[in-house]
Amino acid sequence: MLKCRDMTEIATDYAEGALPWHGKLAARWHLVLCSACRAYYDQLAKTARLLRGRSLDGLTPQREAELLRAAKAAAPRPD
Ligand SMILES: [Zn+2]
Repeated sequence: MLKCRDMTEIATDYAEGALPWHGKLAARWHLVLCSACRAYYDQLAKTARLLRGRSLDGLTPQREAELLRAAKAAAPRPD
């Protein structure tokens, strides 16, 4: 069972579908059980969707990653 700290570390990869199947399963299970991480993840996923939906011409993948990291840092953390 993942701890909340583990969940916050893999949340971006989970949102992007970049985890192996066992990681996805562990993350999904943690989100089912933990409302704090669910709220954190919802905020992260919303931000990622927002960034994807916009026309961000000239935004490098590195800059996009920085923005995601900043949004992740700004979101309220569980535990
Ligand atoms: Zn949690």
